[in-house]
Amino acid sequence: MSITPLMPVYPRCGFRPVRGEGAWLISEDGSRALDFAAGIAVNLLGHGHPHLTKAIQDQAATLMHVSNLYGSPQGEAFAQRLVDTTFADTVFFTNSGAEAVECSIKTARAYHQSQGSDRYEIITFKNAFHGRTMATISASNQEKMHKGFLPLLEGFKYVDFDDLEGAKAAIGPKTAAFLVEPIQGEGGVRPASDAFMKGLRALADEHGLMLILDEVQCGVARSGTLYCYEQYGIEPDIMASAKGLGGGFPVGACLATEKAARGMVVGTHGSTYGGNPFAMAACQAVWDVVANEEFLAQVRSTGDKLRAALEQFIGNYPDLFIGVRGKGLMLGVMMTHEARAFVAHLRDNHGLLTVAAGDNTFRVLPPLNIDDSHITTFMEKLSAGAASYQMPAAA
Ligand SMILES: *Cc1c(COP(=O)(O)O)cnc(C)c1O
Repeated sequence: MSITPLMPVYPRCGFRPVRGEGAWLISEDGSRALDFAAGIAVNLLGHGHPHLTKAIQDQAATLMHVSNLYGSPQGEAFAQRLVDTTFADTVFFTNSGAEAVECSIKTARAYHQSQGSDRYEIITFKNAFHGRTMATISASNQEKMHKGFLPLLEGFKYVDFDDLEGAKAAIGPKTAAFLVEPIQGEGGVRPASDAFMKGLRALADEHGLMLILDEVQCGVARSGTLYCYEQYGIEPDIMASAKGLGGGFPVGACLATEKAARGMVVGTHGSTYGGNPFAMAACQAVWDVVANEEFLAQVRSTGDKLRAALEQFIGNYPDLFIGVRGKGLMLGVMMTHEARAFVAHLRDNHGLLTVAAGDNTFRVLPPLNIDDSHITTFMEKLSAGAASYQMPAAA
C-alpha cells in the first residue's frame, strides 16, 4: 500500500501545527510560526480567542446538532442578524464556501425557472475560484481544476475579469446571472474596479439577471467593511459567504433578497448539518466581535499600516517584488516570478505563514485583530526572508 491514509490531494509540508495562540501557530516539534495565512482567511480572531472558544464550548455542552426537521431558534436568530446587517432578506446556511456558491447558483436558476423562464446560464470571470464541487469547478475557467473530472456541468460562460464590455457582450437569451468575486482571492488578490462592479449591477438590472457575489474570501470584515460590496456602493441579489464566518468553525451561508429567493421554497434545497446550533453559536460569537464600526475601523487602519509597510519594503527588492494590491487585511504582494517557492521559504526558514495565489502573487491574510507588534514582527521576518531568498533558476 503506497497511498497515504489522508488522500494525497494536497502537497503536505513539514510544518505540522498542533496548537495556536492568537496570531501564532506551534508545530509538533515546538517551532513557532507567525500566522499571516489565518487558515486562508478563516481564523479572523486568531487562535484560541476566548469569546469564540467559550461560545463553542458552551454550545457543545448544551446542544450541538438536531436537524432541519425541527424549528431552529439558533438559525433564526443568526439569520436575523445577517438580515439586519446586510442587503439580504433571507439566508440558507451551509458547511462550506463551495456549498454556499452551489446554493447561490441554484437560487439564481430557480429565480428564473420558477417563473417559467428557461434562463440558466451564468457568466463568470477568468481565474475565478468558487470551490471544488462539480458546479463550482464548472463555474471557473481554470483548467487545472477540471482535469480528470470531465464532463463539466453545462451553463457557464467565462469572460475576462474586470472587463465590463466583455460581460455585456456575453449576455444572451439564456443568461440567468453574473457570478463574481469582488476581490479575486485565489486568482491573485485582484480587486474589481468600481466601474466594473457598478456596471455589472446596471447590466443585471437592465437585462433582468441576478448579480451573485462570491464573498467567501473577501467577506466578514476582511476587506475593511463587513462585506466588500459596501465599498462599491452596490448591493447583490445573492451572495455566498463562508471562510471567516465561523472564525474557524466550518460554516457558510447563501444570502438573498426576497425577490431572488422566490424559487427556494419548501423541499427545493437542504443540508443535514447546515446551520446547526453548534455552527450558529460560532457565528454569533464572531459577529459579536466584528459587526461594529469600531472593529471595522480598526481593520481598515491596521490594513493601511500593513500595506504602507509592505509598499515601502518592496522598493528594496525590485528584482523580487512588483507591487501590493487588495483591500483592508486582504493583501497580495505581486512578485516578478511564481510565488510558491518564496512562500515555502518564508514558512520553512523564517517561521512566517502566507498563502500563494495565482498571477505570481502571495496573499497576506492575518487575523483581523492583530496589533502593531505583529506588523513589526511580520516585516522583520519578511525582510529576513527576502534577504536570504535564492530566486529559482527558472524565474
Ligand atoms: C475558498 C473559496 C471558496 C470555496 O470555499 P470552501 O469552503 O473551500 O468550499 C469559494 N469561493 C471563494 C472566493 C473562496 O475563496
